[in-house]
Amino acid sequence: MVWAVIRKTPAERAGATLKDYDAEASRFSWAAARAELAGLPGGGLNIAHEALDRQVAQGRGGQVALRWIGRDDAIREFTYAELTAEANRFANLLRGLGVAKGERVYGLLGRTPELYFAALGALKAGCVFTPLFSAFGPEPIRARMEIGEANVLVTAEALYDRKVAPWRGELPSLRHVLLTDCKAAPPPGVTALEPALAEMPTAFETAATRPEDMALLHFTSGTTGRPKGAIHVHEAVVAHHITGRTALDLRPGDIYWCTADPGWVTGTSYGIISPLTNGVTLVVDEAEFDAERWRRILREQQVAVWYTAPTAIRMLMKAWSQDPRPYEAPALRFMASVGEPLNPEAVVWGVEAFGRPFHDNWWQTETGGIMIANFAAMDIKPGSMGRPLPGVTAGIVERGADGSVREIEAPMGMGELALRPGWPSIMRGYLHEEERYRKCFAGGWYLTGDLAMRDSDGYFWFVGRADDVIKSSGHLIGPFEVESVLMEHAAVAEAAVIGLPDPVAGETVKAFVALKIGLEPSEDLRRELLGHARKRLGAAIAPKDIAFRQNLPKTRSGKIMRRLLKARELGLPEGDLSTLESEER
Ligand code: AMP
Repeated sequence: MVWAVIRKTPAERAGATLKDYDAEASRFSWAAARAELAGLPGGGLNIAHEALDRQVAQGRGGQVALRWIGRDDAIREFTYAELTAEANRFANLLRGLGVAKGERVYGLLGRTPELYFAALGALKAGCVFTPLFSAFGPEPIRARMEIGEANVLVTAEALYDRKVAPWRGELPSLRHVLLTDCKAAPPPGVTALEPALAEMPTAFETAATRPEDMALLHFTSGTTGRPKGAIHVHEAVVAHHITGRTALDLRPGDIYWCTADPGWVTGTSYGIISPLTNGVTLVVDEAEFDAERWRRILREQQVAVWYTAPTAIRMLMKAWSQDPRPYEAPALRFMASVGEPLNPEAVVWGVEAFGRPFHDNWWQTETGGIMIANFAAMDIKPGSMGRPLPGVTAGIVERGADGSVREIEAPMGMGELALRPGWPSIMRGYLHEEERYRKCFAGGWYLTGDLAMRDSDGYFWFVGRADDVIKSSGHLIGPFEVESVLMEHAAVAEAAVIGLPDPVAGETVKAFVALKIGLEPSEDLRRELLGHARKRLGAAIAPKDIAFRQNLPKTRSGKIMRRLLKARELGLPEGDLSTLESEER
């Protein structure tokens, strides 16, 4: 199937925040972007000040900043003024406990309002905030708190008892534990959060942070070895702010739903910071994914901008295949996706189900913000990640054996996706891992570790993580291309493709497929899928084998773990599984 370009209408172009990509990219400057922010006296900059105080000063104090939906559907709302007051209470609490500027505050909470108070309050106090995903087990929590030398942990009683208390004594840097939902008197060394916050004043003078002061420490798991702590500074807010507007089309007053958990970088950069600096109302759902619930939230909350991920979209498609009712989402204006390649099938399904396509965009923990995107005013080529953001220079490069780096200019030449350093949210280091950090840069480029291609219109196409690319009989095969073709088949809900060693071809392609609800694996279906893939891709690229799985292994942030499928297939060690989600779903 050749996917038709999805053209934007003149009205869609005229209404978008970024109307003319070429014109805006050529006149863009980061200095001008920075000038849109308030800053602090004497050249200081603080993320939370831009997200909260600046909005209140500009008259947005009475607008709802955070609309929180509890598991039981209870709704709590906080205006910009109220959220500022709650963050200030948290900052005052930290000060009262003697927590100094630069100290590390970790959040291990579900999506509760307190998580937002803690993140913003810690930043206001000049502390470094590190989110942890609440479903992590004790080991990944401990590793991340050890590497980052946590000083304060904000968590819930139930999480603390099971996951932290047993080893807390072995982490001397951890001076304070602040517990939400404390039922009894807290044990020694632990403070009950809600009563402590209630006593705190609601005014706080934001710490005098400098643009280069560390603000966020985000952990990203390498394929092997210990997780890496990517350091981000307050200056990153310049990118968070501008990219929210250009890549997500955010406008003040919008109702915006980012479905990513703040335990991950997307849930912080685009689930807290960027929406607030852009003056939107943030919808936060405490509950886990549920197709019917999501349908209801989009309708009832009048969501205008929705930022989600391929795994969620594929689960919605799975549910839709059983129950193809159109979505009622009259307020919905812009839908975006990140975290994994978005199959063309899913982009086009957006048009069928919602009357508008999903806009894929690309970035990493290390880039701190969106780097490549399909913009609201831009025609979409389904399967492409879009074009670099204004202010971002992206290229496709090849590394020589001597360490040199050469840019591949030819359209659709495959190579490593690279970015010219200089945007404000680029990581400033991996904590305590200078060598690992240095290796990310060569020849004036930041090297992303992803393989991609650029077409003659400047659109970028994801091929795969460099580690996942398959070399078979002289061909370089990107798993995404093969997976997308399998996804075209009506029976397929999800697909993952790996390379297996082969004495003749070097590697052969094997696919793992999860079927749509209600379908049973069979030899006939296996043969049909193999035939479909061969017809679409040719024998050299099509999978030689297909195995059915109930579900595919994924990280908690929704990425398919191809390396784990491969390790299992080859009987190799499974490596770091700290981010693996249960496979039972
Ligand atoms: P993380 O740092 O955990 O957010 O993972 C970043 C990686 O996710 C990237 O290097 C890509 O391999 C993958 N990724 C993120 N967004 C996309 C996208 N839109 N298309 C393809 N891969 C993506």
